[in-house]
Amino acid sequence: MNVLGAPAAEIGYLVAAVLLILSLKGLSAPSTARRGNALGALGALLAVLVVLTSTDFAGANLTIVLVTMAVGAVVAVPAARRVKITAMPQLVALLNGVGGGAAALIGIVELALPTPLPEGTYLWVEILPEDAALTDYIDPSIPSPVPALVAIVLGIAVGAISFAGSVVTFLKLQGWMTARPLVLPGAPVIMGIAVLTTVATGWAVVVGGSVSLAVWLLVIAAFLGVLLVLPVGGADVPIVISLLNAFTGLAVAATGWALGNVLLLVAGALVGASGTILTLAMAKGMGRPVVGILFGALRGSSTAGSTQASDRPVRSATAGDVAVTLAYARRVVVVPGYGLAVAQAQHTVAELVEALRARGVDVVYGIHPVAGRMPGHMNVLLAEANVPYDLLVEASDVNPTMPATDVVVVVGANDVVNPAARTDPTAPIYGMPIIDADAAGQVIFLKRSMRPGFAGIENALLFAAKTQVLFGDAKASLAEVLAALKTA
Ligand code: NDP
Repeated sequence: MNVLGAPAAEIGYLVAAVLLILSLKGLSAPSTARRGNALGALGALLAVLVVLTSTDFAGANLTIVLVTMAVGAVVAVPAARRVKITAMPQLVALLNGVGGGAAALIGIVELALPTPLPEGTYLWVEILPEDAALTDYIDPSIPSPVPALVAIVLGIAVGAISFAGSVVTFLKLQGWMTARPLVLPGAPVIMGIAVLTTVATGWAVVVGGSVSLAVWLLVIAAFLGVLLVLPVGGADVPIVISLLNAFTGLAVAATGWALGNVLLLVAGALVGASGTILTLAMAKGMGRPVVGILFGALRGSSTAGSTQASDRPVRSATAGDVAVTLAYARRVVVVPGYGLAVAQAQHTVAELVEALRARGVDVVYGIHPVAGRMPGHMNVLLAEANVPYDLLVEASDVNPTMPATDVVVVVGANDVVNPAARTDPTAPIYGMPIIDADAAGQVIFLKRSMRPGFAGIENALLFAAKTQVLFGDAKASLAEVLAALKTA
């Protein structure tokens, strides 16, 4: 189907790369995120069309490509449409793993087939006999293929780490294996040996190894990927997904460089850079270094907390009490958290906020960067309920207003308002910036029980004199408060 000439294909790739860059720009703010997503999808579609119309497929290959794409679409479209918002991190993990795995496999294929190299050179490595040295097949008159081989090897190793690591993160988040950190006996030593073996095998492929050695590299790197993720506790898994996403970008960029494909290079670099930025932003939001998240369990400082409910007494409230408190407040801050997603209470909380604003109460949402279980979780949920973006105020902007706030309503959040992050150096969340709910006049928690949040530690704010707890599922509680407000 080679109907598009090379110059037209290059222009097509360039336009697709620009669309991907504009997509990332759009995704950087909630108000433009939808458009950003659409631009990214358009860029990916254009890239696929350019490949299909500019490649000289040898008959059967095109059929295989089209059938594979159709199978992928049939599996992925319903899965993405049906996924629950709380299961989104697992889906991202799987998609990310597929990307890394594809980059690794392309690397292997590149070693086994005639491969175009950068600067118009060609590395003619026909299907190699078992254990033949790649360098035996290289035309000595062309520039050294070593940089391209390094890029291919990097693509295989990093792609395999990302694939295997992502599969383990998926299993942990899906509950198909324990989410607790798994530390094998002698784990640091095994990890060290796996790293050294991966580097040594990669180098052996570069300096004249065989395709079968490259397959071994893939297997060893995949083992390293598993080892890397096993000691990470459930709480930190989403950060590791973001890190593996950055790895996939690196693998794709390396493959793109080796193939001389500008689009793969740009797309991979964008994914690598954005994944790295997101990983660092999430780690900062939690107040912990990335190294601590990855290797904390190896040093014995697990982040997986207890799920034991506290038996200390708290002051509980009824929906009627809460409605009256809110109706007579001047300023209210709603702090949503993971429980909002579990209860799917985004529409009900939006209705309550609208009802209060209609009564003249000044209400905003205080959004913590790591509330929920994935970056932007609260923004996505509240956007679904058409909450105006200007009502969403980030933690750093809402905190200075807390002393002048009459009531904070904590809807299914816990860790993000836990003062232990400021006061208790032994707490796993110590150092995490929080929303200063304790600085407001009154605090109302909406939760089902006295179980702790993600970090598994008690929240002293629940027992403070200014706090009341309305027990129950957040959606049902909010609906009751809304009904009571109408008669308040
Ligand atoms: P938490 O996990 O601290 O607290 C959630 C609260 O919601 C619990 O108190 C729970 O109590 C309550 N809850 C659960 N279901 C319901 C329901 N149906 N109705 C009412 N309440 C409910 O969540 P936060 O959002 O405060 O904090 C997020 C945590 O996740 C932080 O520790 C953060 O570091 C971590 N994290 C966040 C990531 C991100 O990217 N956002 C990634 C990885 C980790 P109960 O069971 O009693 O109802």
